[in-house]
Amino acid sequence: MIRLGVTGTDTGVGKTTVSRALLGLMRADGLRVAAMKPVETGLAADDPASDARALAAAAGTAAPMRDVCPIVLDEPLAPWMAARRAGRAISMDALDGAHRRLSTDVDAMLVEGAGGVLVPITERDTYLTLFRRWALEAIVVAANRLGAINHTLLTVYALRDAAVPVLGVVLNEIDDAPLDAARATNLESLQALLPDTPVVSFPWLPAPADAASLARAAAASRLRELIARAGLGYSVDEGRVTR
Ligand SMILES: [Mg+2]
Repeated sequence: MIRLGVTGTDTGVGKTTVSRALLGLMRADGLRVAAMKPVETGLAADDPASDARALAAAAGTAAPMRDVCPIVLDEPLAPWMAARRAGRAISMDALDGAHRRLSTDVDAMLVEGAGGVLVPITERDTYLTLFRRWALEAIVVAANRLGAINHTLLTVYALRDAAVPVLGVVLNEIDDAPLDAARATNLESLQALLPDTPVVSFPWLPAPADAASLARAAAASRLRELIARAGLGYSVDEGRVTR
């Protein structure tokens, strides 16, 4: 089974758009897919513009939203603090239960994080620990702008340190401003600095909500190469997860 964990170098870098593109490619290959946003913050539970609803639509799933996104918190904060200020506690066991139910009878599971890998879900757990807990292989989405090299390397090294396999990096164009020197060279730099990890670009989409234009961009991108690497990462050796 394919288990993807989509994380970002920051918030607002395009994780949901890239996740929808990945789900569309896998469905086009005939895979039964499920998607999950374990915690979403900064909106009301019934907000139709949620990442979770966008993912569920891309997955074409009839799974209940209470499993697709078990925890919705209204303050735009990291889950741990948003929950604390709402007088709630996030139960990793409850997230496990939803993940297990969604994972039944599918060929691929995609989990979208929130912000970056070290964003706290509880006082003890981050997305890094969640990815390990669910044996997800990481796809790192980075916004193509000045600073992307440092943010991407920090994220990839943190994942590697935690023995979470990194399937690849997606350098995402987040606007259609003219290319500056950083944006024109980030792809080449990251490909040189991460020789063992595919680094691919994803184009700016003026209307990312439009499924047809997203599907065209996904098909023309190199995202399939990242999906094709899934399943190579985790091996369980005497109870220890190793790379
Ligand atoms: Mg998102």
